[in-house]
Amino acid sequence: MNIPELHSPDLAAAHFDFDSIVIGGGAAGLAASMVLARARRRVLLIDAGAQNNLRTTHAGGVFLHDGEAPASLYARALEQLAVYPTFKRRQALVTSAGAVDGGFRLVSEPEGLPPEVLTAKTIVLAQGVQFSPSKIPGADALWGTSVVNCPFCDGYESRDLHVLVAGTSDYLTHMAAMLPAWIDDLSYAEGTEIAGMKRGTEGLEVRFTDGRSETFGRAFVQQEWTQRTALADALGCARLDDGLLQLDGFGQTTVAGVFAAGDQSANAMQVNLAVGSGHAAGTGAVFALVIEPD
Ligand SMILES: Cc1cc2nc3c(=O)[nH]c(=O)nc-3n(C[C@H](O)[C@H](O)[C@H](O)COP(=O)(O)OP(=O)(O)OC[C@H]3O[C@@H](n4cnc5c(N)ncnc54)[C@H](O)[C@@H]3O)c2cc1C
Repeated sequence: MNIPELHSPDLAAAHFDFDSIVIGGGAAGLAASMVLARARRRVLLIDAGAQNNLRTTHAGGVFLHDGEAPASLYARALEQLAVYPTFKRRQALVTSAGAVDGGFRLVSEPEGLPPEVLTAKTIVLAQGVQFSPSKIPGADALWGTSVVNCPFCDGYESRDLHVLVAGTSDYLTHMAAMLPAWIDDLSYAEGTEIAGMKRGTEGLEVRFTDGRSETFGRAFVQQEWTQRTALADALGCARLDDGLLQLDGFGQTTVAGVFAAGDQSANAMQVNLAVGSGHAAGTGAVFALVIEPD
């Protein structure tokens, strides 16, 4: 990695409110915060509190916590972080970010309170992604329960159900290659063929535009999403051709001292991956804070 110009930890600490500010308190940001707090760096976690998976009660495949509710995972992580004296947390939205000499300046807006300007020597971006509302009427309200989108997360639990797969033809082709590994009873429909869906007494009731209705156990529905780019762009972080942030092996962006982790910087969205990349970014930030350059 390209280690930024470094100072002794004590000198760095004197000039900034925090050694590191982690933006986003999902799996990635919590993991990064843990590494920084355990390295006795003054870390502030700023989180708007809208982790994408809060709409499900089942986090499938999470290492040592298979099936646990995301809300309980986050509560437990915060409980463990609270033990570390250099860890702080604010519930707020970071609305702008920029460079200052040797570090960064952020504006944090807690709901109902005046904005705060905060400085840090390093930043970890862990903002997750922004999902767009589904065009299928009724699908959004059921997303995370009767409507899901990830075979790795919900495929196993759907194995014995009558399952509808809905989306564009590219999505259907992709899912037709994937889902039979998990599920035997699959039906496919383009999203435009569906007039609406709702939960009924027997299961998921789906109305088609040709007037048919059918009840399914669950639907895999294509979800559109975009990266949250504003802060990374304001900081000058470069992107790859596919739009993802360009990172080194320790999650450092092309801007020295700015790290990224989790869904915000990955195509594969899974809790374990977010934890792993958050841990790597936290490690990279610690290196940047404590190691003198050659
Ligand atoms: C419905 C659903 C079910 C899923 N099920 C599974 C599963 O079963 N197993 C599995 O492994 N994976 C599952 N996933 C995927 C997994 O949850 C994600 O890959 C992972 O949790 C992403 O973590 P993250 O920290 O990158 O982002 P998130 O958890 O989305 O957290 C990002 C946080 O950053 C905050 N934030 C964003 N911008 C700002 C800002 N400017 N200022 C302050 N805070 C900000 C957000 O409010 C949010 O709290 C599921 C996802 C969804 C949506």
